[in-house]
Amino acid sequence: MRKKARLQMAAAVLLLLIGFSYFLYTFHAANIASSESTDPSGDITVLIDAGHGGVDGGAVAGDGTEEKYINLQIAELLQKQLDAMGVKTAMTRTTDDSIHDSSAQTIREKKVSDIHNRMRMMEETDPCIFVSIHQNKYSDSSLHGTQVFYSPNTTASAQLAQSIQTSVHTLLQPENEREIKKSGNSIYLLYYAKKPAVLVECGFLSNAEETANLKDETYQKQLSFCIAAGILEYLNA
Ligand SMILES: [Zn+2]
Repeated sequence: MRKKARLQMAAAVLLLLIGFSYFLYTFHAANIASSESTDPSGDITVLIDAGHGGVDGGAVAGDGTEEKYINLQIAELLQKQLDAMGVKTAMTRTTDDSIHDSSAQTIREKKVSDIHNRMRMMEETDPCIFVSIHQNKYSDSSLHGTQVFYSPNTTASAQLAQSIQTSVHTLLQPENEREIKKSGNSIYLLYYAKKPAVLVECGFLSNAEETANLKDETYQKQLSFCIAAGILEYLNA
């Protein structure tokens, strides 16, 4: 095996071991919880938002893969991981659909209605933390790695973002030195969020190697596990 392949194999084995011991830990914790009637998230629901959907495909990779599909796959795996950890969850979408009102006609009207409906779900799910799943794209195809953006409106948002970024760095992407980034007004849902809210740019669709990873179910499971572990760490802090 090439050195890189050996390293990747070692990292995969390590991740599996960590995942398994984490499962045992949470299983044990869940058993204790059931006898003491406490659970990791208390009343807090993690509202998982798979970005884009339906008419809005999001970013498109070099091989034609649309962001919306990867977002939903990772969001669904994240929900499974959090459920297994005993954390309450909800999803903004579970199908390949834009969440717009039936009155919206043009693509622009549909996009605006969709984003307002996601915001309404964030406001109506109370208390909640909001975790949006997206994929990045940039003109320089060498860029890769997960980066978490956070709402400027609550300090909890930065804490949640840091917890997820650290978890991904520690467990999956040791070479990723990216830092969490405060959202500007280009990310509507974070810019106007009144609750702890983050957006996970899982990786770059402009990078062919990372695109292949992001489409791979094993990698998707590893990444969603890292995001879930970061959320659990935040909830337990
Ligand atoms: Zn996106």
